[in-house]
Amino acid sequence: MSAPSGAMRERVRIAIQKSGRLAEPARALLSSCGLSWRESRDRLFCHGDSTPIDLLLVRDDDIPGLLAEGTCDLGIVGRNVLLERASGYGTGEVPPFREWRGLGFGACRLALAVPQAWSDSQAAALDGLRIATSYPALVSQWLKERGIAADVVTLSGSVEIAPRLGTADLICDIVSSGATLAANQLRATDIVLDSEAVLAGPVAPFGDARAEIAGLFLRRLDAVLGLRDSKLLMFQTDSANVPALMALLPDAERPTVMQVDGTDRVALQAVCRGTVTWQRLEDLKRAGADALLVLPVERMLA
Ligand code: ATP
Ligand code: MG
Repeated sequence: MSAPSGAMRERVRIAIQKSGRLAEPARALLSSCGLSWRESRDRLFCHGDSTPIDLLLVRDDDIPGLLAEGTCDLGIVGRNVLLERASGYGTGEVPPFREWRGLGFGACRLALAVPQAWSDSQAAALDGLRIATSYPALVSQWLKERGIAADVVTLSGSVEIAPRLGTADLICDIVSSGATLAANQLRATDIVLDSEAVLAGPVAPFGDARAEIAGLFLRRLDAVLGLRDSKLLMFQTDSANVPALMALLPDAERPTVMQVDGTDRVALQAVCRGTVTWQRLEDLKRAGADALLVLPVERMLA
């Protein structure tokens, strides 16, 4: 970690959460892109083995700042954290980082929540009220866009207790199941942001060897993300059934149809992008498919 920010580098550094909700899924995703690391003893920096891509293990809140100062090149962080930092840039200032890809895990919502006893009309009239949140920039922007003159009270934790303590009237916080809200006699009203883990990177392209490394990584990542839920579906049928069966498989990509020797039967195989449920298999069987087989797809290079 000796290179100064902005220096030419020949390796790419990806910052991920050291421990917490995004830590394991982020590592698993990077591993499925073929990355592996030699663990360092302090486990804050992991040197990439098979590819020139190293890992920085940090607190999630630090990732936008590390990207901004160029200490890391890419980061995996919640959209909530990334956009909060981006919203903190003043008008006319462009944040040096942006979301490159949504990653499909760590889903949650930043939502307003009011005391359960409030009526809907009470919850809709927020002018003059105090909103406790750890996301002051996002909440202020949301209020401004709607012309609502409410006060934002910034708290770093235990936001959901604020209405009971009298430090705020309502809150704006991360919600996934809603169980924490219910335990604090709150109910969610408006959604300020739909969030998930994202790959964040610089706005400007890399001007050195990192461009090629990041390009390779992105191609692998897109292949991995594109294959999520994909399955290889195989079955046999009479050739006359093929059109009806294909109509049941609108998500099948470039199906291969092979004649079964000396019969008018065919064997068909296709990668299906949507989930292959039991219901779909039963529909295919009714339409004449048999010997149905569904296999996971590990890798695909189109
Ligand atoms: P750190 O020690 O790295 O600062 P943290 O406590 O701030 O960790 P976590 O609670 O691990 O962070 O959450 C990391 C991210 O996971 C959040 O920023 C958010 O994007 C996502 N997330 C998904 N579900 C939830 C949830 N129910 N509560 C909070 N965050 C969630
Ligand atoms: Mg954090």
